[in-house]
Amino acid sequence: VHPADSLVHALRRSAAETPDRTFLAYFDARLSHRETDELSDSVAGHLAARGLRPGDRVAVVLQNSPHFVLAVLGAWKAGATVVPVNPMYKSAEVAHVLKDAEVSALVCTDRAWDSFLRATAAGSPVRIVLTACERDFQTRDDPRALAFERLSEAPDADDLTAVARAGHPAPAVPAPAPGDLALISYTSGTSGTPKGATNTHGNIMYNAERQRTGLGLPEAPVYFALAPLFHITGMVCQFGACLNSAGTLVLAHRFEPSLVLEAFAEHRPHYTVGPSTAFMALAAHPAVTPDHFSSFHVISSGGAPLPPALVEAFRARFGPYIRNGYGLTECTAPCASVPPGREAPVDPVSGTLAVGVPGPDTVVRIVDDTGAETPFGTPGEIVVSGPQVVPGYWRRPDATAETFPGGELRTGDIGFMDEQGWLYVVDRKKDMINASGFKVWPREVEDVLYTHPAVCEAAVVGVPDAYRGETVKAYVSLRPDAAAEPDALAAYCKERLAAYKYPRQVEILPELPKTASGKILRRELRSRGDRDGTEQDPRH
Ligand code: ATP
Repeated sequence: VHPADSLVHALRRSAAETPDRTFLAYFDARLSHRETDELSDSVAGHLAARGLRPGDRVAVVLQNSPHFVLAVLGAWKAGATVVPVNPMYKSAEVAHVLKDAEVSALVCTDRAWDSFLRATAAGSPVRIVLTACERDFQTRDDPRALAFERLSEAPDADDLTAVARAGHPAPAVPAPAPGDLALISYTSGTSGTPKGATNTHGNIMYNAERQRTGLGLPEAPVYFALAPLFHITGMVCQFGACLNSAGTLVLAHRFEPSLVLEAFAEHRPHYTVGPSTAFMALAAHPAVTPDHFSSFHVISSGGAPLPPALVEAFRARFGPYIRNGYGLTECTAPCASVPPGREAPVDPVSGTLAVGVPGPDTVVRIVDDTGAETPFGTPGEIVVSGPQVVPGYWRRPDATAETFPGGELRTGDIGFMDEQGWLYVVDRKKDMINASGFKVWPREVEDVLYTHPAVCEAAVVGVPDAYRGETVKAYVSLRPDAAAEPDALAAYCKERLAAYKYPRQVEILPELPKTASGKILRRELRSRGDRDGTEQDPRH
């Protein structure tokens, strides 16, 4: 099969070759590859008729649903660039994105439009609005009633479902070229102000094609979208890879463990990818059985650290091996992953699980502060180049020059490479804890906490300490029905780690704060630790 130039090309092909195969399954709704092609043509025709021109930006503020997919494909068919926006964003965050990306068209639910987006968009360049009926998104009351058919009631916007069903012809716009801008993906990165990474169609297709050829999935694969599609991992490794494989994509709105398990039982997926916290939540669900995972050929964890203890506990209880994968928004999701059929080694010194090996045509270098490459096993900053690395940040020449010197991506992550070519991520550079001058990497301490049978989630941060400058603090949530005292958890770590690394403070919380893509928010815990004061007993 000749690799497709863009997902629009991939859809044209699957609509011609496997027209009746289900592409999107969303509770009771099904859309075939042909229907998806026709409905997204109609969305594109509507956007063009409303004045959207090639190169314009379309913001899509929706959860995992057919509406999301039709909005994205419709925008691409009209030659536009998609700006995916987390539907949990508040007004100020959306306002920044609408203004910074100079967004012309907005797609959201009617409820979000009514409650705050109408007001937010008022001072922005948005001229075209499509809304999807919020009732299609109510999972809690009656998940079975979800469908792709209700009409939104926003009086001053067009309804997405009606527009898709109207049969407008696609505009006479050429299909996207590999160098065209597919997405502006906002990421807060290290600096705080969200910057837009400019993912091209070529960036997306490189990773989507690697998944099609490299995962060993059956013909007509069934993907389950565990990660949100508005995040790069979900967009590329689920929606993109699935469409590029002419497969079936099962969508379930947003991560709700009981609905996910029901969908596994009903659709028998072959593949999914999600953050490690999603697998922890599924494993802790009272209804979960090994049968829920028996259809999977491959399960990937990506975008967040994967504790080795979770991989082993998951395999012992449910069977499948969770493969690690490492990537960033700036390299359009993965740049290194564990090839199917192989298992990632654990570094004997630090106990870190390898994230994988760099993909073909991808070069990963580890450099020290002077920019020189470090020897095998010696940590330094991870620097990546390859066909998935974005050309830069949207209208931010300074940030682009700083993060992409010479076209290479400086990830801000510390890692090392072993002699066999496995890459290990130690931690984020900015998360290092400096305890009396000793460097402590939170990951290493978290990996130890995850080996404790009572621990469900763990996050380690540095908090101010009058004596050491900074001290190690662990926040932990416990498994249902498990009990553990903070002192016992600290003692458990003390037995297994060098004296300066073990957490002097342990606090147990019902649940740890997470990003929309499921990553534990150390940032938020750090500011909570700062607020808790610095008066620690120096004799600890
Ligand atoms: P934001 O910038 O919005 O705060 P973010 O920095 O988490 O989010 P992403 O591009 O989503 O942005 O995440 C990339 C980061 O996730 C990497 O730089 C790395 O720190 C972490 N990461 C990704 N995969 C792995 C992995 N397999 N193991 C450890 N860390 C990982």
